[in-house]
Amino acid sequence: MNASKPSIAIVATGGSIAGVGPDRMDFILYPELGEHITIEQSLQRIPEANDIAHISSEDLVSVGSTAIGPEEWLSLAQRINELAQDNSIDGVVVTHGTATLEETAYFLHLTVKSGKPVVVTGAMRPPTALGTDADLNLLDAIRVAACPRTGGLGVLTILNNEIQSARDVVKTNTFRVETFKPNELGFLGYADSDGEVVLYRAPLRKHTMETEFDVTGKDTLPRVDIVYCHAGSDALLIDAVRSNKSDGLVLAGFGGGSFPPKAIEAAAEAVKEGIPVVLASRSIAGRVVMTPRKAEQGFIVSDNLQPQKARILLMLGLTLTNSRDEIQRMFSEY
Ligand code: ASP
Repeated sequence: MNASKPSIAIVATGGSIAGVGPDRMDFILYPELGEHITIEQSLQRIPEANDIAHISSEDLVSVGSTAIGPEEWLSLAQRINELAQDNSIDGVVVTHGTATLEETAYFLHLTVKSGKPVVVTGAMRPPTALGTDADLNLLDAIRVAACPRTGGLGVLTILNNEIQSARDVVKTNTFRVETFKPNELGFLGYADSDGEVVLYRAPLRKHTMETEFDVTGKDTLPRVDIVYCHAGSDALLIDAVRSNKSDGLVLAGFGGGSFPPKAIEAAAEAVKEGIPVVLASRSIAGRVVMTPRKAEQGFIVSDNLQPQKARILLMLGLTLTNSRDEIQRMFSEY
């Protein structure tokens, strides 16, 4: 054992990175079969990781990420906060399915209270498949978490050698290994082919230690629904959210902030009834901006957060306040 090696804790949750298919040509059936190897078994496939770090690992849950939601986000955040407080741990890696990886990563980006590296990874092809990316992505995640320069950047993701900010990263493609893209904002760096971790930029929006969110001891979060607009959307789904008395609503509309008339009217009624509504966009990049009319109707705008991330920020904002102005401030800070 080399005492100068950093200590990395891995918290595993399942997903394709641990998926087990019926044969090497299976790229699609294994999620429905639902079998996963343990993180210990994943690590046995990459003995090279022991040259990089002292590794401890645990399986928090072992599920596809379609089954991950607020309850798992809260246990993960709480567990990572515990690990990060341990002076003997230098960084944390989370393994996760790719379906909701960006949501978990953004939740952690806002709720982890540490400047130590926290790196989320997954895989597009399970370890049982030809050309799997599971082993290299896990090894890269360990390299990135073991690199002291990746501390203080908020939660990072790494797949396909690309280091991304949890705030910006989105799964953009159904099967390609280069699926995770940082919207239009540029990724932060590489875990590159020569073994170097190279960084080119840093996120400027507040995260981790700079946020006001504290999920210690929480086991639930406010309920926020997303309604996706389309040509001819009416009030049906928004009315369902209103009659459910959900705690918040994200409305995914068009372009920089336009909406089908019946949908936006119903959303304005929701605001009057006390349900905060964030206006987001179906567009894959760019901001939704405030207008005098939207302000008068009491709406909040999402900045450039994708609807699924706007939902997370609204959920966390609602743990502290119902004030529209305060929540709007959060959307311009985080
Ligand atoms: N079914 C997988 C999941 O857990 C998909 C993946 O990991 O790519 O999200």
